[in-house]
Amino acid sequence: MAQSVICSANLIHGMLTQTRDHVEVSILAHLLECSPPLTFTPARADKTQVGDTLRVTKPRISARIGAIAESATLAVDAKAKALKAAGRPVIGFGAGEPDFPTPDYIVEAAVAACRDPKWHRYTPAGGLPELKAAIADKTLRDSGYKIDPSQVLVTNGGKQALYNAFATLLDPGDEVLLPAPFWTTYPESIALAGGKPVIVMTDESTGYRTSVAQLEEALTPATKALVFVSPSNPTGAVYSPAEVEAIGQWAVEKGLWVITDEIYEHLVYGDAEFSSMPTLVPELADKCIIVNGVAKTYAMTGWRAGWMIGPNDIVKAATNLQSHATSNVANVSQIAALAAVSGDLSAVDEMKVAFNRRRLLITDMLNEVNGITCPLPEGAFYVYPSVKGVLGREINGKLASTSADLAAIILDEVEVAVVPGEAFGTPGYIRLSYALGDADLVEGVRRIQTLLK
Ligand code: PMP
Repeated sequence: MAQSVICSANLIHGMLTQTRDHVEVSILAHLLECSPPLTFTPARADKTQVGDTLRVTKPRISARIGAIAESATLAVDAKAKALKAAGRPVIGFGAGEPDFPTPDYIVEAAVAACRDPKWHRYTPAGGLPELKAAIADKTLRDSGYKIDPSQVLVTNGGKQALYNAFATLLDPGDEVLLPAPFWTTYPESIALAGGKPVIVMTDESTGYRTSVAQLEEALTPATKALVFVSPSNPTGAVYSPAEVEAIGQWAVEKGLWVITDEIYEHLVYGDAEFSSMPTLVPELADKCIIVNGVAKTYAMTGWRAGWMIGPNDIVKAATNLQSHATSNVANVSQIAALAAVSGDLSAVDEMKVAFNRRRLLITDMLNEVNGITCPLPEGAFYVYPSVKGVLGREINGKLASTSADLAAIILDEVEVAVVPGEAFGTPGYIRLSYALGDADLVEGVRRIQTLLK
């Protein structure tokens, strides 16, 4: 047993080192504004002489796909889960998912759908008509934004909605303004579509929020779109309605598209207020794509149901793409999503009480750690502290030069998984999700406190 634990710990360490390298290469590329992996350098073909014939072996993996970095957040989560499965008392702050089960009424709707042969068949690639109608109603209820069901495309989670959006909008060389810290999937998804992410740096001094002035500075004739997310992953930042309106107005003036990710719309705390950009700036509607889903609001990360909302031409084109890529989202998941969006918000209100308690607790506890400074986030379920005060220190004989080093040391030494800021375009920070049980949260941060005291 002891031996197998050591072996798996070594394996995990090896995997982390590998991920870190990926992340660093990727981040460096973002900072340099798109040298590899965001542009595709064809891998060299190998040539071998066999008798009289010169044999050319094509690279096994295309340059396009070979350039994609592994999702650092999923990698950290997988490592934590693997260590746990090996019997280690790992505490995972890596995953961006609520620790609550999906509410019963949603599960029951899915169970009934499983039993009905009607749902054992293909359905329209763009989504069940009743779900699209319910999403249109929900959007009016929650955002005050009126749309027609034909403007909805049901996707395999918000992730596929983003992929569809970028693939549908971008031609090679189109620039997309991407405020950092950014969720790790955005730059990969933009680059995969041939676009070029242009990073707009923010930090804790502005609450990790960007401004029109900053965006203006990054604008070029090649800019086609802006990615906007509030509440934000990884920082939990929430833009005020006035800020949302100002950025939306600016996008309209510049003729830009906005991809606005509203997946954390219901997770705001204190005085913070969610606002939907096209509601505040109706003139944006013709160039706005909303990304959303049931994952975070209803504790449904594993069901893979999300959607995009946009103008009809975009939604039609994206539906064509999806009809060849994945066809319809699994019907059982769509029926579950239908129950979720047609129901009330009592389940998320209950989760919010727990998240809010943990938000305050984790922020206080992290601020007690020597070298860590943690702003109080206003939304989502993440904290994004600066660890710059720890860098350069030796911890149990290991040098923490970067936040990626520090995350590896924390995992190695005290078996706590956090995601390094390198994954979000801003080295010097770490992200912790507080969507885990209170007892684990306290124990996990205590371990960090003890390690870094
Ligand atoms: N957008 C943001 C900002 C997210 O954090 C996530 C999940 N981590 C998603 C979209 C995608 O969620 P899903 O694909 O699970 O619906």
